[in-house]
Amino acid sequence: MSIYTIAEIDLSILKNNMNVISSITHGAKLLNVLKANAYGHGIIEIAKASEKFKVDAIGVATVEEGVKIRKSGIKVPIIVLFQHFKSEAEEVCKYNLTPIISNDECLPYYEKYMERYRGSLKIHVYIKVDTGLNRMGAKPEEVLDLAKKVLSCKNLVLEGINTHFAAADMKDSAGKDFTREQIKTFNEVINNLKSNKIEVNTIHSANSAAILSYEESFFDMVRAGITLYGYPPVNTNADIKPFMEVKSKVVLIKKLKKGESVSYGMTWKADKDTKIALIPIGYADGISRKLSNNWEVKINNKYYPVRGRICMDLTIVEIFKGNVNVEDDVLIFGNDKKLNAETMAKRIETIPHEVLVRIGERVRRVYKD
Ligand SMILES: *Cc1c(COP(=O)(O)O)cnc(C)c1O
Repeated sequence: MSIYTIAEIDLSILKNNMNVISSITHGAKLLNVLKANAYGHGIIEIAKASEKFKVDAIGVATVEEGVKIRKSGIKVPIIVLFQHFKSEAEEVCKYNLTPIISNDECLPYYEKYMERYRGSLKIHVYIKVDTGLNRMGAKPEEVLDLAKKVLSCKNLVLEGINTHFAAADMKDSAGKDFTREQIKTFNEVINNLKSNKIEVNTIHSANSAAILSYEESFFDMVRAGITLYGYPPVNTNADIKPFMEVKSKVVLIKKLKKGESVSYGMTWKADKDTKIALIPIGYADGISRKLSNNWEVKINNKYYPVRGRICMDLTIVEIFKGNVNVEDDVLIFGNDKKLNAETMAKRIETIPHEVLVRIGERVRRVYKD
């Protein structure tokens, strides 16, 4: 909540992670998933850096995110991964986004708006195949008909088909069996299209977990999300590192007498005369209130425990050793063995995705190359 509270983002590590993923998927195209403000890293800057580092496509959740990226001058294909509303078909066409369809409802709208906005150009669409996640997508037996409908539209190109896994990150046999079954179903759909002489350009299915565990899921392109941001969801030796570090500075230091409590609700009391440091970051900035009395921060290479409740705009730590001064740098989490989005996620029983996307708007993003 202060200009001193920042998320420092090291784009050279983004580049490294992209290269590592590409070397794992040997030759498959790379789609960087930039939904939800690029998992909190800043959608425009990460889109620009991705394009500079030669990404093949960008994936977003909403049409609005896609439009924002396109307006910033990005030229690579922007794929809208999630179902959009009919009323958004106009923007999809106007901004040359690539939709993924589950049924034929938007086709007439694409036809109409492509004529209006793009002259002789065509819109590229994907068909999503629901192989078991039971979220979006056409059922496998519906895909052939839907593909024929797309092919019958004069302003549309059937760019490809794709699917999404439900359990590629699960290590147990149930997860493995389910994923293999999804891949099998997907292959059957691909073969059915082929035997009906329908060729598509791009087939993709792999998310981060599949990139690291299922070579047979790579097809023509992979969709990298959380691994791109440095948090592989399965064990790997790959040289993948986080590149967002949430930092602040000590804003005030105070003495505390034995027995005095700290912050709302008196949830912690000093067991000796000690000192506390106040840090201007709170749950409004995405530092969960569940980390009250349950996290540490790093100052001058030493770890200090959070004491009392985390407030909307403030976190308090105990300084029981070392020498800490006002304006000293504080690491909340980042590229640190102990303090990172993965360990923080474990503490509050969630996944690193949620920790990253929750980093609030008033935490200033600072980029370095
Ligand atoms: C979010 C998303 C991804 C990326 O998932 P990660 O687990 O973060 O790699 C890939 N594909 C689709 C369709 C998604 O929605």
